[in-house]
Amino acid sequence: MTFTDEEVERYARHLVLREIGGQGQQKLKAARVLIVGAGGLGAPAALYLAAAGIGTLGLIDADVVALSNLQRQVLYGSADVGRGKLEAARDRLAAMNPHVAIETHPAMLDQANAAGIIGRYDLVLDGTDSFETRFAVNTACYTEGKPLVSGAIGRWGGQLALFEAGVTRGRPAAERKPCYRCLVSEIPPDAETCAAVGVMGALAGVIGSMMALEAIKCITGAGETLSGRLLIYDALSAEIRTVGLSPDPACEVCGS
Ligand SMILES: [Zn+2]
Repeated sequence: MTFTDEEVERYARHLVLREIGGQGQQKLKAARVLIVGAGGLGAPAALYLAAAGIGTLGLIDADVVALSNLQRQVLYGSADVGRGKLEAARDRLAAMNPHVAIETHPAMLDQANAAGIIGRYDLVLDGTDSFETRFAVNTACYTEGKPLVSGAIGRWGGQLALFEAGVTRGRPAAERKPCYRCLVSEIPPDAETCAAVGVMGALAGVIGSMMALEAIKCITGAGETLSGRLLIYDALSAEIRTVGLSPDPACEVCGS
């Protein structure tokens, strides 16, 4: 896979990074990445992944752009209100980087379609606000053997992790990584929605961009990923910490 002169100039700041370089940029171009949910987290993640030169970017969402989305969903403009999110996203991403192939799935991801869609990608980002969707994504990533970058936000707090239970399935117990259900075994009874309690718009940018960054690290092999760790960001106190995550032997999805 070779780059045109235009691509070499476009990706110049990546190409000089020791951890990316020509090889890393080629891996990005060869990668197929699926973003589940083109909302607060999916929007900045899609923008940075398209800008970074991911070869194929899949988007799945069934919503139309609402005026109340624009406070944080930076993929869309005022003129997009009322349009399908994927149609608007495709226009914006194609205008930013014509080298990226955009695949749109105008649907809700659920247990019935998850494996079929996820199986066609190398890596999945999940930034949805529904636990049912998160569980379906996690199960499909586990069975299809795909790494899952998972992010969540609410009010002033956010968290993200890379789950590689599917990638490490079948390895000796000491080498296995946790899945999302090892962290969240059941739907929390007191789960909050951003519509009810609010969310700081710039926080979506922070966590969504970090999701894109973790995906890029996972694809290129740069640095240490968040596999087996949960990053927690408290925006009000401006503090970030990471905690270790272990596979749960009693996990409904990846347990023994
Ligand atoms: Zn698990």
